[in-house]
Amino acid sequence: MRRLLNSFAFVILASCAGEVVDIDRTGHDILQKDMFVGEWYAQWTITDVPYTTGFAFTGYGGQLDRVKWAIEKGQLIARRSYEFTEGTDAPHMRDGAEWEGAPLYAFPIRGHFDRLRGYNTTTGEQNNVISESSADCQWYECKEMRVNWAGDARLGGDFGQFYVQGFDENDPDALIVDKENNYIEVNVRAFMAPELDRELTEYYGFPVPKCWLYSNPYWDCRGQTIGVKLAFTRMPHEPDTTDADGKLVAGAVKKTFAPLEYDDRKLQRFGYYRVTRFHYDEHYGSREANRKHYARIWNLWETNFREDGSVLPMAERDPKPIVYYLNRQFPGLPEAAPGSVDLLSSAQEVADQWDGVLVKAAAQAKGVDEATLRGQIPSCADGACGDQGRMFVLCRNNPVAEDDPAVCGPAGTEIRLGDPRYSMLYWQPTPQAGSPGGFGPMRTDPVTGEIVSATSYIYGAGYERHAAYIVDLMRLLLEETDIESFENAEDLVAQLQASELRRKASPAARLSIQDIQNSHRHERILDKGRDLAEMHRSGELMAQSFDARIAPIKADASLTRGVLNRELLVQAMGGTLTGEEPDELLEQHDMFSLARRVAERNEARLKRAGTECIDFNLFTDDAVLFIAQRLLQREDLRSDGTHDWDKIRAYLLKRLFVATALHEIGHNVGLRHNFSASTDAMNYHDSYWDLKTDLGILDPEFALNDDAIRALVQQTDENGATVREYQYSSVMDYGATWYQDLQGLGKYDQAAISYAYANHVEVFDYENAERLFPADPESIVEGHNLGYAYAFMPNNYHYMVYPRLLAGLPIDAPVQNGLINGTPVAEIAGLIRQRRWVPVDANDQVVGAPAKLRVPYRFCSDEYVGGSSYCHRFDSGADVYETVRDHIARAEGYRPLAAIRRGRAGWHPQFSGGYMDRAVRVYDFLSLQYKHFVNEEFIVRRGQDCIDPSTGRPIYRRNDDGSPNLNQPIAHFVA
Ligand SMILES: [Zn+2]
Repeated sequence: MRRLLNSFAFVILASCAGEVVDIDRTGHDILQKDMFVGEWYAQWTITDVPYTTGFAFTGYGGQLDRVKWAIEKGQLIARRSYEFTEGTDAPHMRDGAEWEGAPLYAFPIRGHFDRLRGYNTTTGEQNNVISESSADCQWYECKEMRVNWAGDARLGGDFGQFYVQGFDENDPDALIVDKENNYIEVNVRAFMAPELDRELTEYYGFPVPKCWLYSNPYWDCRGQTIGVKLAFTRMPHEPDTTDADGKLVAGAVKKTFAPLEYDDRKLQRFGYYRVTRFHYDEHYGSREANRKHYARIWNLWETNFREDGSVLPMAERDPKPIVYYLNRQFPGLPEAAPGSVDLLSSAQEVADQWDGVLVKAAAQAKGVDEATLRGQIPSCADGACGDQGRMFVLCRNNPVAEDDPAVCGPAGTEIRLGDPRYSMLYWQPTPQAGSPGGFGPMRTDPVTGEIVSATSYIYGAGYERHAAYIVDLMRLLLEETDIESFENAEDLVAQLQASELRRKASPAARLSIQDIQNSHRHERILDKGRDLAEMHRSGELMAQSFDARIAPIKADASLTRGVLNRELLVQAMGGTLTGEEPDELLEQHDMFSLARRVAERNEARLKRAGTECIDFNLFTDDAVLFIAQRLLQREDLRSDGTHDWDKIRAYLLKRLFVATALHEIGHNVGLRHNFSASTDAMNYHDSYWDLKTDLGILDPEFALNDDAIRALVQQTDENGATVREYQYSSVMDYGATWYQDLQGLGKYDQAAISYAYANHVEVFDYENAERLFPADPESIVEGHNLGYAYAFMPNNYHYMVYPRLLAGLPIDAPVQNGLINGTPVAEIAGLIRQRRWVPVDANDQVVGAPAKLRVPYRFCSDEYVGGSSYCHRFDSGADVYETVRDHIARAEGYRPLAAIRRGRAGWHPQFSGGYMDRAVRVYDFLSLQYKHFVNEEFIVRRGQDCIDPSTGRPIYRRNDDGSPNLNQPIAHFVA
């Protein structure tokens, strides 16, 4: 990019005659007013924060907005250019008046003037001196002005308070005014105060910043001076013209993108971030009925319209790639931190994966094969790429180098953080206490939902620490580390070694169905179920509060004393107690409420973050053993025949980076979190089903004997990966383990992109697949009506029954020696992947194949997390048995790690991520699963017959001779 500190500072106007040179007496930083026409994008972004800032991080910023400039006598104002709620003000304007939106930014104007050539006042003859004159024009007629960019910038922020503190014009980050490219960049130092917690502030009567509630004691919660970039760029537009009076007429904004309406029904299929436009109706105001949702997506086409303005069918559109850049300090580039692990090939791997998904979608949209589509993408100069064109281009050099693809722009173009014209994969090299692990904001047109650009931030320091931590653990396992340096280390090693795989595989650790049934009897669970249902009917269930029920437990002071001490209490209260309070005051707090408070804070933080594409961590950091042994075997991670810890650390860092970057770019292309991806067995990676059926398994894991389980979890495929590593459908989940999404993008990720970007869905494609299509609308699960088979909706039938249903087999058809009725189980499970892509119309109806059975995908995001048994963060397993077992195994296996300080300065049992928080998370998970079970089985479906979906008939109890007892259909629970 050409950086013009201002348009005129260095211009020397040489006279052609050669003898006389013009003398330019105008100062620098002059702005030509005719630049401030048309509609602009405006964006603010935090570019720099001190390490200890507990509340802000590089990359955080406002939403992209659309503005129009207004030049007033004293101020240059950027006003919102569209109605926040459509149909409110604009229809009531008098003719000819221009509607004015809310001011988002304002800068004082220092002066209005014209640049004039001096002249002889007697003869009128011009001379060679050019100077500023404000005497010869009215302020509104003057063509030039000077603005105080450092003055009173009102930011459209909702995150703390800002004011501009200073402005250094000698800074390399100084003002950029690039008239040629319609770009203005203002870098300011701003004072930013931490966001306050309103309730606590009101309660305690002094300011309580939110970061106290989330933070570690070594975070600085004070306001800080931070770097903020304000960037303005004119929207792509038609050429400007002048009218008959010589007045400049701004060229209209170019319309190349057709918004994609994305209603709640579509949102149930695939989760996209949306832009919601409210409309005002003169009779009814703003209602849901006149509200419109648009998916936040990229425009993958040069244009969506014909010249006459009609919509171009997708097949006739020209593909346009998404272009990403790396930041200058990206590991592997010349300005990277010394000694950093080269991540260029990992970045390329991420780009390749998303490229594959986008190319597939674009090819579907155009109805061509992928090689043909690649040949149509202009990502290289003059088609030099042949059929190697890409829909996701990674420009690896910053500034752009000669040999970069043509779409990267001219060589020398420098890509800077916070410039809304460019998308970046950004590695934050320095640690920031307040930073999350990753952050994937997209800059979206607030009216249309078009993603203009996006950035995936990876906060590197956290991943470096995490890789080192995993290496420490591995060394500990090998007992190479000085045992003495760990507190209670012998204990730790022993517990670790007894955990996870070994523990899972040991017979004593597994419950049999008989055990479970016995425990039910012991608990008299059927009676309780009847009581609960009765309390539900009578309303009693609602009448008694949770607090009232646990009051007797809380009243047991000895219990609280056993687990609570003064230090814990003070810290859990977010520093609002000093610890000097009298015992009676401290005793008013009980451990239950405190642990609950920590868990709720953490939940609130995660929910809020999830809606803003902020990821604190994408995995819990404990499940290491599982993969450690395998890494230790790898030849390429050894030197001189022994483990090379530097290589292992570098390998881990690369894998962590790839997993995180895939997820953040997932946000960048519009995807929301999908916390049910880890339970969507129908759409797990193919290897998951291969590994099971290779062992002849087509039964639930809870029904397998110990030998079968052991064989299953230890078996690896040709990639050296185990069945546990294939148990997800999307990288938009938070996996239970850091290796959870090492296998890359999942089926959901492709399906979601194909759906929103290319109007394509998957149907099962084999003879009689539609047999499972519900002929009876009643059998479609209530309220969803997504065209999915009832049998495949979560929790209706066990997922291991799916292959049998697809094959038209009875759901209880037994597996014998790897065969069902003589057919190998691999063949039966193979039906799950017999799918075909078909187009859908704007009403979400399959075109041309209406009877085909749609492949169901599970989606569940931040708002609903914990609301059903299959929607949880950090879980692993396809059914309740598996997820519960996994939580227990991890809690037991890694308790010593979580509970031991190991010299960590920020470690505290009560804090988020600390031992108590982990414990609460596990107990919460277990109790939630129990609640789901009670609710679903005892209340919602109590007394309903169990239906065999392969016949549509109730399932009957069987007589001793195996024949159905037609008087006794099986109900979920009938006492
Ligand atoms: Zn995320």
